[in-house]
Amino acid sequence: MTITTTTTTVLSYFEDTYKLVDQAKVLQIIDSSSPPDPALIPLFSKHSAALVLDHTLFYPQGGGQPTDTGTIVSSCHSGAVFNVRHVGSHKGTVYHLGSFADQPFDDSSAESLVVQMNVDKETRLANARCHSGGHVIFSVVKSSGWPMVEKKGHHFADGAYVEFEGIMPEAVSKEEFQKTIDDVVSADMPVSVIAVDGQDEGGQRRFVQVGDFEQNACGGTHVRSTGELGRIVIKKVARRKGQNVTKISYAIESNSDSLSSQ
Ligand SMILES: [Zn+2]
Repeated sequence: MTITTTTTTVLSYFEDTYKLVDQAKVLQIIDSSSPPDPALIPLFSKHSAALVLDHTLFYPQGGGQPTDTGTIVSSCHSGAVFNVRHVGSHKGTVYHLGSFADQPFDDSSAESLVVQMNVDKETRLANARCHSGGHVIFSVVKSSGWPMVEKKGHHFADGAYVEFEGIMPEAVSKEEFQKTIDDVVSADMPVSVIAVDGQDEGGQRRFVQVGDFEQNACGGTHVRSTGELGRIVIKKVARRKGQNVTKISYAIESNSDSLSSQ
């Protein structure tokens, strides 16, 4: 089944980072050899099929945050399973890319096909911790009065970093910065996601706020409070004076990691 009209997927993952299971309706099952837009060829080429649903709990990779993974299971017919390996968004439509485990969904009644989304918990929570951790660093730097402006965040567990335009004062040591970050984490400050109705696009703009720090625009998934982060380990503060950039590399040592390493 292929519907050629553009569909806007409702992004249900915004409502609750911790909601990992829900039902949805299938709108399209697309063979990956025929992507609906040539721009999607690189994304589709590594997978065998893509599913479009009316709404999704799966976070599509972007905004410095990696993709969610999991399964989409037919609840109507055979219980057929689609393994979600990558999720991507293009022009408002979210594509769940992967492959059917054994057999495809029964295509004959695809328009009314109801499925259950199961988002992989470990990946979701690791990504949320990493993203919220990056925002803790943004917040601390922003409130410091240093001549640094947030530039970008790469919240991937393997090699996470945040970048700023401007140079962190030499007088601030990595250890001192680490101590400030540790204080925010141990204060168990709430991480709030605030939605504001957009004026132009008709949609919503989203902001994340750590405690009483200044808000940052963000479309990612976040933990409820800094206490859920575990520890943000500042790996390196690189002052690249030639580029006028400070790059702060970090890693998340989750509560379970720190328990198991003791
Ligand atoms: Zn963000």
